[in-house]
Formats: sequence, structure tokens, C-alpha cells
Amino acid sequence: MARGKHLSHFCAHCDKVTKMEKIGSVENQPEKTWYRCTRCRHASLLDLDAMKRSQEEAAKKIDKSSAAIYNPENTYQIGDAIFHTEWDDIGKIVSKELTSGGDKAIVVSFEKLGEKRLLEGIAEN
Ligand SMILES: [Zn+2]
Repeated sequence: MARGKHLSHFCAHCDKVTKMEKIGSVENQPEKTWYRCTRCRHASLLDLDAMKRSQEEAAKKIDKSSAAIYNPENTYQIGDAIFHTEWDDIGKIVSKELTSGGDKAIVVSFEKLGEKRLLEGIAEN
């Protein structure tokens, strides 16, 4: 599976989602990978396949009544349900990323449209 060198993940040491740098794999455990938090430098052993599976499971269960209307000026948490009025689709935030331009983005798994990236927190810039 082709993956980038960096990903955003919740760091238990920072108590927030941070940028993680891939630092190595684990012998006899090909599904697990060591990532180092670029903020606090602590290493975490991540099982990306299990994370992806749990994200897909979570994405299937969307509580429509709790979905927030998507607004790029707001910021969101992984697991939040959002409703995109223009697309008339509901989705769940499965991860967070930084764009190449340094903007904050959320990765949303929509029921109809599938995975989409949307900007968040644009008012802070
Ligand atoms: Zn950290």
C-alpha cells in the first residue's frame, strides 16, 4: 500500500492531532509502522490498516441529528458528523491533514460522494 511519509494522527503525549513522520517498520508485524510526532518527538507504533478499518466502520454510522453544517471557518474534530449543504450529503470526519499550502483540511467520508477533503479554520489565517 503506497503511503506518504507523513500523516496526521492523535498524539497521546501532545494530547492533540499532530503531524507524524514515518520512521520505520516492525519486523514480523508488517501491518504496524513506527511514526514519530514532529512536535514532541515521541514515537508511536501505529497499525494503519486497523485504523483504516475502524475509520470505515465509524464512517458508516452517522447520526444525522448530530451533524453540524459544514462551514470552512469552523474547526472540527475527528469523528464529527457534518452536513454539506451545497452537496446535500452527510459525512464523518475520518482524519485531518495539512495542505501543501499549509492550510488545515479535514478528510470527510461522505455517504454518497465518498472521501473528500475540505478546508477548515480559514478564518484563523
Ligand atoms: Zn506529540
